[in-house]
Amino acid sequence: MEQINLHQELKKYFGFNEFKGLQEQVIKSIIANKDTFVIMPTGGGKSLCYQLPALIKEGTAIVVSPLIALMKNQVDAMRNISDHHGVAHVLNSSLNKTQVKQVKEDISSGITKLVYVAPESLTKTEYIEFLKGETISFLAIDEAHCISEWGHDFRPEYRNLKNIIERIGENIPIIGLTATATPKVQEDILKNLRIPDATTFKASFNRPNLYYEIRPKTDDVDSDIIKFVKKNSGKSGIIYCLSRKRVEQLSQALQVNGVKAVPYHAGLDAKTRSRHQDMFLMEDIDVVVATIAFGMGIDKPDVRFVVHNDIPKSIESYYQETGRAGRDGGEGHCVAYYNHKDIEKLEKFMSGKPIAEQEIGHALLQDVVAFAESSISRRKYILHYFGEEFDNETGEGGDMDDNVRYPKKKKEAKDDVDL
Ligand code: ADP
Ligand code: MG
Repeated sequence: MEQINLHQELKKYFGFNEFKGLQEQVIKSIIANKDTFVIMPTGGGKSLCYQLPALIKEGTAIVVSPLIALMKNQVDAMRNISDHHGVAHVLNSSLNKTQVKQVKEDISSGITKLVYVAPESLTKTEYIEFLKGETISFLAIDEAHCISEWGHDFRPEYRNLKNIIERIGENIPIIGLTATATPKVQEDILKNLRIPDATTFKASFNRPNLYYEIRPKTDDVDSDIIKFVKKNSGKSGIIYCLSRKRVEQLSQALQVNGVKAVPYHAGLDAKTRSRHQDMFLMEDIDVVVATIAFGMGIDKPDVRFVVHNDIPKSIESYYQETGRAGRDGGEGHCVAYYNHKDIEKLEKFMSGKPIAEQEIGHALLQDVVAFAESSISRRKYILHYFGEEFDNETGEGGDMDDNVRYPKKKKEAKDDVDL
């Protein structure tokens, strides 16, 4: 078989000189037609893991992705690096008949290397019947944690993908990709996709430049946050709050104290939201006070702090949200306020939900309690939660959390876990 020079292909299409992390091994696995499972933190470079093999291999790769905006971005990026406009397409309900015809023509003629589909569109018999007759190089499932109820973004439609791909063709390799590192979610993904023997690549989730700190939440939380923000004046930061009301209140309190802050939550109209987001990106303001509606797809490399006014509902969420700090490798200070009353509040929110969902939510929350109350290194705890052993003596960032820097006295420590 003809030897492919992957570095040359990387340079040719993407202009990069080196692969990032495990990319090269992943790509080799995909090119060898193996079922492949990729677990890499956000920003790790997962897209390229399937984009490059799709460009190299014969046929069209089907890429499943949950967000239309993400698909559009990727299609545009692919069109930029190729001579053919038809190199990548989106197949969804927004297309008219003529457009669908064009997509089909491009796939049939072999021009299209990637076709992006939302999971609900892929259930359409018309598409399945069409794709059945085409050469499909592989199926890539981005954000594969959407398969699992234990993940933070469960999508029922994701659970049917295996059946659909079996209708499209036999032995089509499956590539799952996610930034969710919990072993439970990973098991769910492999089981649902029925790829128990998939070659798995897992990158480290350690973020050595982030400093983790949990503070007890008292009635002084407002002045404590204001003090913290003022100490970091001129730096970019995000403050997460559970409720919209609290977002408004805290951003006003900051403004009154001379901090350039704006609120962000789903109750604001789209125009205001995007204006506030732009102000943050353009550095007209320093601080965004936000609900979790803020952050998905935000790529500001120099966020210097993330404050949690309320403790998140899972360690996964805590990791994702704090992960928005220090993307550039520079300082990232993560402070979360915790008290048990807030946990009770979160429990109460769940009470209206279906029992199965409540049970999962409760279990995730118990892990948050154990994490917040533990005297073990925060980093060690998080990485252990993600199935990764961390040695604070030798590991990068080993002294970058409150419990390591300022160990609690033995008798205060409430440890019921043994890592
Ligand atoms: P993920 O999906 O894992 O969050 P992305 O695929 O969005 O990550 O990639 C994150 C960033 O890394 C992008 O800006 C991408 O261009 C960049 N990137 C990916 N691979 C490389 C590489 N080999 N060299 C340099 N930059 C890369
Ligand atoms: Mg991605």
